[in-house]
Amino acid sequence: MSRLAVVFGGSRGIGGAVARLLAQRGCRVAVVSRNQEAARTAMGSLPGGGHVALGCDVSDQQEVQRSFEEIQKTCGDISYLVNAAGVNRDALLLRTRPEDMVSVLHTNLLGSMLTCRAALRSMLRTPGAAIVNIGSVVGLRGGAGQCVYSASKAGLQGFTLSLAREVASRDVRVNLLAPAPPPLAPPGFIRTDMTSGLTEAVAARSVPLGRFGEPEEVARAALFLLESPYVTGQVLVVDGGLRLAV
Ligand code: NAP
Repeated sequence: MSRLAVVFGGSRGIGGAVARLLAQRGCRVAVVSRNQEAARTAMGSLPGGGHVALGCDVSDQQEVQRSFEEIQKTCGDISYLVNAAGVNRDALLLRTRPEDMVSVLHTNLLGSMLTCRAALRSMLRTPGAAIVNIGSVVGLRGGAGQCVYSASKAGLQGFTLSLAREVASRDVRVNLLAPAPPPLAPPGFIRTDMTSGLTEAVAARSVPLGRFGEPEEVARAALFLLESPYVTGQVLVVDGGLRLAV
């Protein structure tokens, strides 16, 4: 039986590319996003078979629990979990609405905690199981105009490293992938809906490799973390060399 991978935020962007790459590698994929229709469409374009699509708000504990029950009932035990569901509401702190703080923290941080918790029992039964959480370099070093987003990603890093320690003896690996942001700009230079406000010229000026990163290039790093049996508790930065420049 092929491995089962659950990809939150798998309908588009980085999560969409991870879902495609895992399907190309022969995994069955559960594609999850709030918009079930978008998840279905993304699932429909995956190579191979045995995939499923679910609509679920990752910040809602009951929806997350129900989704994992359904996934396990239909597809069996989980080998890989990728947390790529995320939002940004970047603004200076004084202009950030409290409801936006809650939404960002609940989606980016609480959401990944809920999915890991819901998936873990199943993963403990699966040899070689692994989790990749998608953080951001903003979480490692902060970013003006990104206090709340940065806090969500810093929290995710602490959560990832702690969980890696908790479950290493049970052969479950947990790693963080950190695409990097430019200062005072949207959260990164990976070409997705989240960065649609940035131009090629800004990327060419700011990134040492001189261009946007593609979601497929981040997906390859995620695959490396999922498939490397002696790598856990790591933060892998995927930024086109941006940190060399700032
Ligand atoms: P994106 O293109 O906007 O895709 C976001 C994905 O998350 C979509 O599938 C979206 O689907 C899903 N999502 C959002 N809120 C959700 C919720 N409450 N419940 C379930 N699914 C939800 O973003 P992206 O650029 O691929 O970003 C993916 C991750 O990488 C995020 O965590 C982001 O912070 C991080 N990141 C991105 C960059 C970059 O340069 N793009 C840089 C650093 C870090 P629905 O809207 O249908 O729910």
